[in-house]
Amino acid sequence: MRYISTRGEAPALGFEDVLLTGLATDGGLYVPESLPHFSLEEIRSWRGLSYSELAFKVMHPFVDDAVPADDFRKMLDETYSVFTHQAVAPLVQLDTNEWVMELFRGPTLAFKDFALQLLGRLLDYVLEKRKQHVVIMGATSGDTGSAAIEGCRRCEHVDIFILHPHQRVSEVQRRQMTTVQGDNIHNIAVRGNFDDCQRMVKESFGNQSFLGGKTQLAAVNSINWARIMAQIVYYFHASLALGGPDRSMAFSVPTGNFGDIFAGYLAKKMGLPISQLVIATNRNDILHRFMSGNKYEQHQLEHTLSPSMDIMVSSNFERLLFDLHGRDGLAVKTLLENAAKGPVSIEDYRWKHARKLFDSDAVDDKATCDTIREIYEQNEYLLDPHTAIGVRAARNCRRDPAVPMITLGTAHPAKFPDAVAESGLSVKPPLPAHMADLFEREERYTVLDNNIAGVQEFIAKHWKNA
Ligand SMILES: *Cc1c(COP(=O)(O)O)cnc(C)c1O
Repeated sequence: MRYISTRGEAPALGFEDVLLTGLATDGGLYVPESLPHFSLEEIRSWRGLSYSELAFKVMHPFVDDAVPADDFRKMLDETYSVFTHQAVAPLVQLDTNEWVMELFRGPTLAFKDFALQLLGRLLDYVLEKRKQHVVIMGATSGDTGSAAIEGCRRCEHVDIFILHPHQRVSEVQRRQMTTVQGDNIHNIAVRGNFDDCQRMVKESFGNQSFLGGKTQLAAVNSINWARIMAQIVYYFHASLALGGPDRSMAFSVPTGNFGDIFAGYLAKKMGLPISQLVIATNRNDILHRFMSGNKYEQHQLEHTLSPSMDIMVSSNFERLLFDLHGRDGLAVKTLLENAAKGPVSIEDYRWKHARKLFDSDAVDDKATCDTIREIYEQNEYLLDPHTAIGVRAARNCRRDPAVPMITLGTAHPAKFPDAVAESGLSVKPPLPAHMADLFEREERYTVLDNNIAGVQEFIAKHWKNA
């Protein structure tokens, strides 16, 4: 499988290189040159497969000879055995034909584990083969950092440095990162804010000379193709559990960077009958505004009760724009360069096509809390604020009650106790048993000044073979 850039000017790459590369050299994102397509008959034959067997069927065409079939099967078995539910992505029914797919049974209680548990193993496999080492450097304000650390903890050829803003992440989120023990895991608390952390990461990728040429940086942020690939699987999984592919499904997806919902769009293109995809945003609603009025325009960042969806631009949306423009990289490049300067629109017929593919809704904090309370009162089932946004959007946008509506449950409510409290409920979501002692575990992190030279010196000194 070859991968091409959405801006049309970078060289095409194979899977291994795409895994190790973040942005393409032309500033674009990598997408498969062509998608595998599965017939209904083939999808039907997957009924009854375990999650990891299904993952093999869906993903192997993307990976092909980078990882031989037997090794890939073994890797997937290991990856999905760390989840604490036998079904890996169990479905919970909310109402007639209405479901939540729980994607938070992994080690860090959010859906990012599905991709990052696999990504760590894929990276280590490819690096072992190539006799290479990488340093993963990332900034986090929440879920990504802990999922990346958990995903890389057993990697032999990876050191991971995660920067978080000192005293500005929640205690659960900090502890999920800092209590993971391993010589290759390095948490840095920067005396600054999230933007400071992100700027240092960006600048370091731009000039890696501080590593002295002995290793190189790699990124695991949401634009990494392998993350999208891993997220396609659970759309097939849910559909097969509810009578697919002989019946179509609707999905509602809490969205920030457009990664998870883009995976659903790909599942549909690969042959899975999906009749509705709902983009569910919080007040940071650039996608909803685009879908409603064909205007793509950055607004100020709003801090909400669903912080993992607090974004100003939606990085993976570029991958959809590429398809909407008939895969014309130059058109995408021009559009996004203009979008950095001010509001942009696309041709009306292209926008109408996007509206056929997706519905959208924006849900504010009050409606989020109302939904958490309502679902709890109806079912004694607690939603986290991100999932609540998905459920609310699903109910607002639903077209056909005969089609199962599945909301992606992106996080466990124990990760976001403040939103549950604010919804007026007196229940406190307990941490799952495997994390019950989180507050007793030993923490390890280093506090550094908001100064890039100091941070780079720390990394250069502390990676394994430094
Ligand atoms: C990352 C995240 C999202 C947003 O996912 P995207 O792929 O960026 O759209 C939603 N909910 C939770 C809990 C997350 O951690």
